[in-house]
Amino acid sequence: MIPPPVGFDLDMTLIDSRRAIMASFAGVAADTGVAIDPAGVDSRLGIKLQDELAHWFPPGEIEHAVRIYRRHYLELLAPLTTRLPGAAEALAAVRSAGARAVVITAKPELTARLSLDSVGLAPDELFGEAHGPEKAAVLITLGAAVYVGDTPADMLAAAAASVHAVGVATGSFSASELRAAGAAHVLHSLDGFPALYASLTARGLPHGAYHVAVKAPLRTRRGAAAPRA
Ligand SMILES: [Mg+2]
Repeated sequence: MIPPPVGFDLDMTLIDSRRAIMASFAGVAADTGVAIDPAGVDSRLGIKLQDELAHWFPPGEIEHAVRIYRRHYLELLAPLTTRLPGAAEALAAVRSAGARAVVITAKPELTARLSLDSVGLAPDELFGEAHGPEKAAVLITLGAAVYVGDTPADMLAAAAASVHAVGVATGSFSASELRAAGAAHVLHSLDGFPALYASLTARGLPHGAYHVAVKAPLRTRRGAAAPRA
């Protein structure tokens, strides 16, 4: 039997996009003359782009700022994106077990594809423009067994899809925040993923059959989705 797919978030899970994100916000600030505090942005990495921009722009100007941000991001992603430790090995571990490694991200598909290409990562499938609860819908459709991500929203999506929630504390959120959102396991980096995945598959990974204890409310929280870049 083919093992069920494993889903991965992209930003701050497989790739370190922090520098590209911060530089793109600096570009938005320079182009619009609006002061954007980098520390504020950095403390919330992982929230939806429109929600972050709402901290700095009135509602009527957000979509304009989104367009400026995306223009900068497309130019900056290749030089400023790096692969997080263990990312390639994590995808390889899934593949060598015969399963598909699938990236499910809030980023638009083009930006996600270019980001993956720039760091030499090639998942078996890619789903873009999927925010919090939409990630759960993709996981359910795939019959995935595991979702790996760096935000509480990722853990809530895994729980909503009844798949095994694996948190990686490589973004802006702590291990305790990820556990509170339902992470069954929290890794300091993806370096620990192959061993964890081996132990999970040794126990048998049913398609979407895990029911993770959710300690946080299962709802979409403002700013709880991954960044659209
Ligand atoms: Mg992320």
